[in-house]
Amino acid sequence: MSLATIRDYQADQWRSTAAEVLGRLETRHFINGAFTDSVEGGRFESVNPATGDVLAEVSAGTSADIDRAVAAARAAYRSGSWAKMPPRKRMKILYRFADLVEENAAQLAVLDTLDMGKPISDMLNVDVPLVAETVRFMAECIDKVDGSVTNTANNAMHMILREPLGVVGAITPWNYPMLMASWKFAPALAAGNSVVLKPAEQSPLSALQLARLFAEAGGPDGVFNVVNGMGEAAGQPLALHMDVNKITFTGSTEVGKLMLQFAGQSNMKHVGLECGGKSPQIFLSDLPDMAAAVEAAYCGIYENMGEVCNAGSRLLVDRSIYDEFVERFVAEGKDAYQPGDPLDPGTSMGPLVTKGDQQRVLGMIESGKSEGARLVFGGDAPQELEPGAYVNPTLFADVRNDMTIARQEIFGPVASVIPFESAEEALEIANDTIYGLAASLWTRDIDKAFKLVKGIEAGIVWVNTYDSGDFTQPFGGYKQSGNARDKCIDSYKSYTQTKSAWIKLSNQ
Ligand code: NAD
Repeated sequence: MSLATIRDYQADQWRSTAAEVLGRLETRHFINGAFTDSVEGGRFESVNPATGDVLAEVSAGTSADIDRAVAAARAAYRSGSWAKMPPRKRMKILYRFADLVEENAAQLAVLDTLDMGKPISDMLNVDVPLVAETVRFMAECIDKVDGSVTNTANNAMHMILREPLGVVGAITPWNYPMLMASWKFAPALAAGNSVVLKPAEQSPLSALQLARLFAEAGGPDGVFNVVNGMGEAAGQPLALHMDVNKITFTGSTEVGKLMLQFAGQSNMKHVGLECGGKSPQIFLSDLPDMAAAVEAAYCGIYENMGEVCNAGSRLLVDRSIYDEFVERFVAEGKDAYQPGDPLDPGTSMGPLVTKGDQQRVLGMIESGKSEGARLVFGGDAPQELEPGAYVNPTLFADVRNDMTIARQEIFGPVASVIPFESAEEALEIANDTIYGLAASLWTRDIDKAFKLVKGIEAGIVWVNTYDSGDFTQPFGGYKQSGNARDKCIDSYKSYTQTKSAWIKLSNQ
């Protein structure tokens, strides 16, 4: 079924698709080309955050399962079945894989919606198409990113070969379960590595299907493995494994720091980190279009329930336009995102990922109130959607950058508006954070724009827009937002290593 067809599905069709998908759900690990139970037999529950219902019992991995998956990945790598496959053949399999992702869009979309509460319309418009696009973009790199031959004296030949790393362990979060995983496995596979993916325990279901589709496309056994389980039980043994060449991680800054320790305690594996953020949007008094700016402000924080690493959670607004900005945010943004059933295509905001996250976010809102921020709207859970893990879209004004809500990553639909008096002060506030993932600035003045672009300590800076871009754009942070770059050609290269081959020629 094509993406275009299922975009017309109504809520009842999605509910029957969900029932059908749950009726034939696969919940075991995918190792060496087959679904398989945990060695120790453990299982954990996957819960639908919109209803509180248990969706499935999923195999819970331990170090024994990680050992099996890494051994399968290593054997596949050594055999050359994938790493030494002719480039265009590898590309063909990945293109077929991308096609299969689109052909199975309904099943894949429904799995993530049930597992973590993302609106089904977002799955169809963002996650599923972008997974296919990620696979295609990385496949295109296979015979385009070369090594090189350097200029040497006549008595030598020097080649720099670009080779895969070997076995890549990927540890991923739940906020875009398939998409964040694809930003890891797609470049790793395209570059010729074998992969062991450990998805987040809150959203374990869709990754299993992606690995199955890779095999269906012709991917050899052992090249793409998925082991589910808890962070400490399954993620940690993967990160500590002596036969894993790289850990590629997306998740919290706290756990990201552990990855560096695990690499040091084991085999000095490469570590690529994509971590948290507290991204500022700076609205200067001469911004070109107030309507576009306000829309970027509320979409930038309420999209995906605010569970976005680059959510624009700090809105820095010039004092001279502050009152107008807040008034327009209330008028246009208060009802733009309505919590509801994520299986209904009309719903723009689902529940948070777990009841625990709902309580954590409500706790952050209480801290905002008690520290003196002004609650403008929201701040509570919609009672009619109990026992779902929902939080209403929330706006705080008159926030100071030293308040907890301005310093900690909330990972929920909570915006904080902070006034400033000058562009210099805005820059100071923007950079006063441990994070540095993304930022935006809004101004007509090209001189101010360039100075701010250069001054902002963040891996991505948007001017007069927010969260725009394509696959050429490196995605990654400064400071404690991480050290990796996803999506772009540099991402593909980060799953390779270079070998220098210096060949002595005769002097004649
Ligand atoms: P998390 O750090 O709690 O978990 C991420 C992954 O790490 C999960 O698979 C988890 O099981 C695993 N893990 C947890 N403890 C572990 C341990 N001790 N050893 C090994 N693995 C362990 O993060 P989360 O709650 O799943 O995701 C939310 C976070 O992810 C936010 O901070 C968000 O900003 C960040 N994120 C960043 C990006 C980016 O590109 N920078 C993108 C999406 C999400």
